[in-house]
Amino acid sequence: MDRELRQEARSLVRAARHLLAELAEEADDFGPPPPRQELPATPPAKPSVEATSAPVPASAFQSDLLGEQPAFGTHPTLQEVREGLGECTRCRLCEGRTQIVFGDGDPAADLMFIGEGPGEQEDLQGIPFVGRAGELLTKMIERGLELPRSAVYICNIVKCRPPGNRTPLADEVGACRPFLDGQIDAVRPKVIVALGKPAASLLLGRDIAITRVRGTWHDYRGIPLMPTFHPAFILRQYTEQNRRLVWEDLKNALARSAELRAGPAF
Ligand code: SF4
Repeated sequence: MDRELRQEARSLVRAARHLLAELAEEADDFGPPPPRQELPATPPAKPSVEATSAPVPASAFQSDLLGEQPAFGTHPTLQEVREGLGECTRCRLCEGRTQIVFGDGDPAADLMFIGEGPGEQEDLQGIPFVGRAGELLTKMIERGLELPRSAVYICNIVKCRPPGNRTPLADEVGACRPFLDGQIDAVRPKVIVALGKPAASLLLGRDIAITRVRGTWHDYRGIPLMPTFHPAFILRQYTEQNRRLVWEDLKNALARSAELRAGPAF
């Protein structure tokens, strides 16, 4: 009996050694962790490539930055992110801007709205969402959600006005993305609302149809994400149905953020 037990024990030890060796090999396959990506201390020279009006390819919003270390650490302040941006010339959008439009609102907001890029009024005033679309967004926040606009945080995926209000191109979005991620890491909102297709595509990492994904819950780096229509789209198609859909999305976003603020019920 003793002999059988000893044999069984030896075979268990052999199996355990074999398993450990396999695990060690698998760990080697992954290699060392990638080096942390740092923002350049001085911005690169202005790109010579001219902007084109070519349609954004389906892959344009797929991020090659997902999974990388955040450029500003895990919990920077908005001021640190703004200082990191400086008088940015990392993409061609710097050439036509009046000023950088960084963000606006409560630095510790529960709700964060992310749009596409500054328009004419935003470029002139240096504040996001202050033109006609911005007035509608403000109305939705203040009259609909009954929150002062100053209680939420609002920004865009690019901080400089694209010429003629065109959709930002993939390289422009990519150049600006570390600053958007820095803003998200600084504010740490309970819920993000992506306004329109470009913002939703960027945050979802794929080219989406906003009519299909609006009103559904997603996740951006652990934060619940609700895509909805951009207020400029609502202005263009001012139907009762579109207004009702956005209203439902915003109500859901507010309710989710309130739930998360309250914490678990037990
Ligand atoms: Fe820099 Fe962003 Fe402006 Fe491009 S859009 S110049 S990356 S701040």
